[in-house]
Amino acid sequence: MQFPIFDRSAIDIHSHFNHGVPGDHINPRFVGTSKNTLDFLKTEYDRFEIKEAAFSSYAAVLSSDYIKEENVYLNDLTKENDWLYQWAVLHPRQDDTFDQVEEMLDDPKVLGIKIHPYFHEYGIVEYADKIFSFANERNAVVLMHPDAMEEMARFADKYPNMKLIIAHLSEEAHINAIRDAKHGNIYTDTSGSLSACNNVIEYGCEQVGSEKILFGTDTYSLTFQYSRIALARISHSEMENILYKNAIKMFPRAFK
Ligand SMILES: [Zn+2]
Repeated sequence: MQFPIFDRSAIDIHSHFNHGVPGDHINPRFVGTSKNTLDFLKTEYDRFEIKEAAFSSYAAVLSSDYIKEENVYLNDLTKENDWLYQWAVLHPRQDDTFDQVEEMLDDPKVLGIKIHPYFHEYGIVEYADKIFSFANERNAVVLMHPDAMEEMARFADKYPNMKLIIAHLSEEAHINAIRDAKHGNIYTDTSGSLSACNNVIEYGCEQVGSEKILFGTDTYSLTFQYSRIALARISHSEMENILYKNAIKMFPRAFK
């Protein structure tokens, strides 16, 4: 088998990093078998000639206590590092994060809004109108850790100017949500460990089309995540869609 050649480097739209602050320490993978510092991740991206990756810090998503300062910390880093892009983390019970995210959405290095109902300890259905109406008014993209996926199509229908990426393609519920959204504004990404399932990428392409699937690592091994797409049983053009074309289309201000 030949490793395919692509015209452009891949874009990782979903990753995280640790930088040694208290919120990082509840990350169970902050151990020797898994390294999540930006320096380490950068050496990995360099090996694969990946020049663009979008992050939220672990401290911002694993805890509710550091969101605003972590958003600022990462935003400053994106200004010093061409390759770094950002998801601005929003917490529905912290109104000041809405003001902060609103301002950050003007920044071309900010791809959109990141929400993590599980670690931020809320149910998305309770706060969906608050978050998604905010996103809808700003034509924003929301990257959501999966929660109540069977409810998401009706919210996506109600807020058609929002694009919703339900992360970690792995379940039939992802497929159904994408398919049921009347305006086609639900997507998914390949990030997470469950892309190791032996037919998940192929099944996703077959069921909803590669146009709905974006490439992400979630800090899992880039060797694995990249090869999982580049050596998948899908066509070369489907690989291109997943690895970079869909991201260029969704974030034209950020990527060319
Ligand atoms: Zn994540």
